[in-house]
Amino acid sequence: MITAVKGTQDLVFPEIAAWQAVEEAARRVFSRYGYTEIRTPVLEPTELFIRGIGDETDIVTKEMFTFPDRKGRSLTLRPENTAGVARAMVEHRLHESPLHARLYYIGPQFRYERPQKGRYRQFHQIGVEVLGDSAPGADAEAIAMVVEFLEVVGVLGVRVQVNSVGCPVCRPVFVEALRSRLSESAAGLCGDCRRRLETNPLRVLDCKVPSCQPILDGAPRFRDLLCEACSAHHAGLREALGRLGVGFAERDRLVRGLDYYTRTVFEVSSSALGAQDALLGGGRYDGLLEQLGGPALPGFGWALGMERLLLALPKPAARREPWTYVAWSGPGTYGAALDLARHLRAAGAVAVMEHSARSFKSALKRADRMNVRWVVLVGEEERQSGVYTLKDLETGEQQALAAEALAERILKERP
Ligand SMILES: [Zn+2]
Ligand SMILES: [Zn+2]
Repeated sequence: MITAVKGTQDLVFPEIAAWQAVEEAARRVFSRYGYTEIRTPVLEPTELFIRGIGDETDIVTKEMFTFPDRKGRSLTLRPENTAGVARAMVEHRLHESPLHARLYYIGPQFRYERPQKGRYRQFHQIGVEVLGDSAPGADAEAIAMVVEFLEVVGVLGVRVQVNSVGCPVCRPVFVEALRSRLSESAAGLCGDCRRRLETNPLRVLDCKVPSCQPILDGAPRFRDLLCEACSAHHAGLREALGRLGVGFAERDRLVRGLDYYTRTVFEVSSSALGAQDALLGGGRYDGLLEQLGGPALPGFGWALGMERLLLALPKPAARREPWTYVAWSGPGTYGAALDLARHLRAAGAVAVMEHSARSFKSALKRADRMNVRWVVLVGEEERQSGVYTLKDLETGEQQALAAEALAERILKERP
């Protein structure tokens, strides 16, 4: 038997219904903010990621699916989508049109990581890129939009945390203050922290080791050391978030790990996820597009893992599908069943039927296994009278109804 590639999954109904609902909500909410979708290819030249993400990152050195095509050109299955968006912007000069300043994407990404619960080698992301607007209101609006989206899909206990990581002017000042303060207590820090203090001091702030926490809580705060422009930007962010009705907290140690962030970084968590409650994050990346070979445009973005989002959603109640199974049995009834199914669909109901003859008993069994709510029986008598027996498999109730009334009854129960 041939099985799916390790770390990939096949999705079918009813699980796929949750994916579709999330994707539809994303499209609906994002379009209200004037965002349009961009779909870039899954395959990109390997060079794009080496140049864009950096040839020393884990993604590029260990996690990419990279292979030569038949002509020997190196291709990579995209491990993330921002680099592809940046490439498309330049290639089609999209950045010259304000119409393409707000983009979202929904699609699979690929990383060769060790598969574990909730982590796949083919995983799926929803993300946005806001391009060309460096004002803090752009950050606030993109954050407000994701919060609205999470509320629409039903994520519980959503919390927003923000921070500013400064700019190339003030960040070195902060890093120096951080290094000098933490060096005084270096002996109390874990090995990772001591090493990062030398190589990448900002990452120290991310440390989750309990014994490091009291020391890190005493670390300098970005907001005390921001330059004037960054400070004003952060104040603008707070004000715009308030205007847009987004509740948020400052988290002084939020750095999001990636070096390309400038000024705003944010993280959204959900109480539904337990101890590791981060659901998504993002921030401003004013130099990134240029680094990716793109235009020198400021940008803001976030990305969210679908698999993780689905873990944060409440389990739907075990209910029957509001579908109608049209069962037919007896001479001449097939045509009447076709007519009835057509009538129900035209009225807006879901009608399912099978086209090989079987007994009512067998049809009822199949309808039950299909987990439908309704069954209509079309027998010889029903065909002649035009009055059908409607069974409600949820309540066990049974009614005799003409086609019109039947459709009305079913649609009345539509969620
Ligand atoms: Zn600054
Ligand atoms: Zn540590």
